Amino acid sequence: MDIYEFLIPDEAITASVGNACEFFGLPEVPIVNSEGVCVWSNDTQTTLDDVFGVNREQLSDMGIISEDSITLAYTHECAHRALQGYDDITGINEELACDYFTGIHAGLNDIDSSQFEEALGKTTGGETHPDGEIRVKAVEYGKQVAEEIQAQGISPTFEYCKDRFEDFMETHSNSLSPVALFEKEQNDISFTGHIDDLYDPEIKSAHDRAAYHHNQAKNAQSEEEWERYYDAETEALNSEDYWKRNKAEAESEHKKMEAAREYQDTLWHSAGISKIEEIYRK
Ligand SMILES: [Zn+2]
Repeated sequence: MDIYEFLIPDEAITASVGNACEFFGLPEVPIVNSEGVCVWSNDTQTTLDDVFGVNREQLSDMGIISEDSITLAYTHECAHRALQGYDDITGINEELACDYFTGIHAGLNDIDSSQFEEALGKTTGGETHPDGEIRVKAVEYGKQVAEEIQAQGISPTFEYCKDRFEDFMETHSNSLSPVALFEKEQNDISFTGHIDDLYDPEIKSAHDRAAYHHNQAKNAQSEEEWERYYDAETEALNSEDYWKRNKAEAESEHKKMEAAREYQDTLWHSAGISKIEEIYRK
């Protein structure tokens, strides 16, 4: 038996998926092995033709191995199914909405979300998914809404929960806008402004050492002594070269990033102009 099949047996997957489907009142659909944990919606007019993908290796690598965590992972996938046909929540916002629904499910049905949240928190965002940090916030917010639902004794509908998610979007809209993401990136690379500070002291120190040994070698009293200073000088010169090469590489990387940043700037700028044109044309 495959180690991953041992860690996450079929029964755990089918039980978790069944649990997630039941929560949304969605029909159970086939589960196939795939490159990742995912859901294919196929025809978005119906949830009957959806297909789940499972990847035990990915789940285990992420640390999602308890049945509760797997249930929440498939609650996220099922939320994508439930959101089929809604075009007001898309892209990164849809991912966050699906995370939020895992929090709702965890809160209402007493599912332990700690392992799932820990795994989610470690993920880094990309073009399609937000950063783990905000994804965990969405889960937490879902749990908070679930708590309120229970305290008020109301029976929540999907629509009700979806509406409550809008508050989360409003609170976090600033940190999710392209400008904010761009600024975050800028902060991340700001250290490159200190390239000189990083490399120059090393270069200078190696250079001074080389000069010192060179002088010592000139005044050497024996061939042996000369050889020792000569070796030390060579070593210092190599070190100076090494730091100079590193500095040049860092500078070239920095230039590339600057160029990318400028390009992004123009992109947003032109996007802004066409948006304004669009508004005036109406
Ligand atoms: Zn997703």
